[in-house]
Amino acid sequence: MQNSVPEIAEFTEITCNRCQASCCRLEVLLISETGVPERYIATDRWGGQTMARLDDGWCAALNRQTMNCMIYAQRPQICRDFKMGGHECRVEFTTG
Ligand code: SF4
Ligand code: SF4
Repeated sequence: MQNSVPEIAEFTEITCNRCQASCCRLEVLLISETGVPERYIATDRWGGQTMARLDDGWCAALNRQTMNCMIYAQRPQICRDFKMGGHECRVEFTTG
């Protein structure tokens, strides 16, 4: 049975400016050095690094007014690889 995700894509144009930065609520592992400022990095007890998230669930580097990334040029590789309209995006996409 087909799940509902492709149906969303069929009836709704998926673009970031119609989305509440849903993918910026996911855990973002830092797997390579792209220059993310230290203040946005969370380090666990084993030394693993992720983008820090605030109590509202979104990444610390997201501007809450504009819902844009404040460190776009230095964003992690995982954020660079996340494709608008791709499968993972269609799973996360929410209209504002
Ligand atoms: S989930 Fe998709 S549409 Fe929403 S901000 Fe992320 S890439 Fe853009
Ligand atoms: S670094 Fe930028 S693009 Fe990546 S999750 Fe944080 S706000 Fe979103």
